[in-house]
Amino acid sequence: MILDQCPHCGVRSVQTTARFVEVLCSRDGGILWHLERCQNPECQRLILVEASNIGQVRQIFPFTQYQLDPKATVPQPIRDDFREAGLCLGAGCFKASLVMSRRVLQRCLTDQGCTQHKLVDAIDAAVKDSVLCKAFHPLANEIRQYGNLGAHPDDDQLVNANRESAHQVLEFARLLIHEFYEIPSSAALLKQNRQASKTT
Ligand SMILES: [Zn+2]
Repeated sequence: MILDQCPHCGVRSVQTTARFVEVLCSRDGGILWHLERCQNPECQRLILVEASNIGQVRQIFPFTQYQLDPKATVPQPIRDDFREAGLCLGAGCFKASLVMSRRVLQRCLTDQGCTQHKLVDAIDAAVKDSVLCKAFHPLANEIRQYGNLGAHPDDDQLVNANRESAHQVLEFARLLIHEFYEIPSSAALLKQNRQASKTT
């Protein structure tokens, strides 16, 4: 199977091969446990995968660590919230993951001047004012539906939270962090290195 990310080596969309026979836990109603081996030649470590009987991944063990580029200048609250969103996703706490990912999105957009109180309004402003590059617009429109925060607990769009929606919002947050922080950090480092090589 292909996993989003290997929890050991961090390679994304990694191919794995089943190492041991799948075991059906009939008590859990169609849950399959796979013991998979990461096919990154430098890793080759084992991953325990809990999947539905139609092959949808529910959880993996150990949990995937959602780490950002340690060299990039990313504000610590964004780093912390992103990591926690990833941990919640790995633990199967999809509502909690969505809430943390929304915090990340809101912090990122606020940093870019989209200071609207509601995340959904901040996303709209980011699209309208081209804070988000065009390639992100279709995804941003999809994410809007998870971005509403109502006063009443039932208005917060969390009722339908599932692995797919939590994963989608987390990946969107990752893209924004990459665009707003990781790329500028890499560009600044390149410039610095160029200047250093000119003066020596
Ligand atoms: Zn691996």
